[in-house]
Amino acid sequence: MITLGKDEIAKYPFLADAGQYLKDKGFTLQQFGIDPVLKIPLEKAFDRVQVSADGKIYKSDLIDGEASDIALENEVFSFLLAIVLLKLTGITTLIKRFALAEARRAEKYLEKDLANITDDSKKELAIKIIDDLFSIQVKKQDDFFIIPISNYLEHSINFHEREWKLVNRRVKNGSVFLTPHETVRLIRKELSNYISSKIFNAKMPSMISGFEEPVKKLNSLSKKFVTYTVTNGEYPPCIKHAIEILEKGENLPHSGRFMLATFLLSRNQSIEQIAPLFKNAPDYNERVTLYQLNHLAGTSGSGTQYSCPSCEKLKTQNLCFAIPECNNILNPLQFGKKRK
Ligand code: SF4
Repeated sequence: MITLGKDEIAKYPFLADAGQYLKDKGFTLQQFGIDPVLKIPLEKAFDRVQVSADGKIYKSDLIDGEASDIALENEVFSFLLAIVLLKLTGITTLIKRFALAEARRAEKYLEKDLANITDDSKKELAIKIIDDLFSIQVKKQDDFFIIPISNYLEHSINFHEREWKLVNRRVKNGSVFLTPHETVRLIRKELSNYISSKIFNAKMPSMISGFEEPVKKLNSLSKKFVTYTVTNGEYPPCIKHAIEILEKGENLPHSGRFMLATFLLSRNQSIEQIAPLFKNAPDYNERVTLYQLNHLAGTSGSGTQYSCPSCEKLKTQNLCFAIPECNNILNPLQFGKKRK
């Protein structure tokens, strides 16, 4: 059990028993729907969800990571009310995007606390949070944080970029050396999953008077995430799986996005047809998506069109979900062709 101070409750509200905090303060959820003063945290909660739906991170009222009494109440109440709004809305994509944005927000504070050179208690608490939540034993060594190789391999499994490969890391005496930024980056996905599972497992509240309007607005906001699916029976399982991940609003690694985009481009899908598939990705950014697709299609940058990776490469990236019909093909683009 982690004992949190007031700054930590505001920074990491998902670790606190926000419901109990509400009771301790003598409030009920119903009051937030009718009391003009208490409507402010409700508006903040709506803002918190809306900002996350846009792929951004909610800006807290904390100053240098410290919470005044008012800021503490606003942070905890708006987090709790955001969960109530999400439960009442019941839209998985909004929940996933909120969880990712909150994980990224917490990541900033964790990184700052780890790097704190004036207050060891902040560093120790950040280390304890990482250990308690994700069973990673972090220790400080000089300017780095070291974690056992087994922990590193277990948690870096979804990273496909070269710098995360163990051979490219500094390793000594069975430990991997990481900067504060890398230490918290390692747990982003798990932190996001931790927050979303808390929301999914939270008790479903009944509609509260005064909450109808923000719930209605969030329902309408979520319509932009409904996409049509560019799919047909000839797609290989790796591609179907990637599309399913995006449809569920889950995070598809960079290598998966590369595979999907290059496959569809090779199948003569236009950028306008492909771009909407990525709309549900928790970190979706329209401008960046279009830029990347144009780059892969060779319509910008060097003019080179990138090819869909081989099945062998996709296997090493954990993106292959082979079925018997994949037999003997070397590239997903061959799927279905050999059988004709
Ligand atoms: S064998 Fe190739 S086509 Fe089949 S799922 Fe794996 S990567 Fe995709």
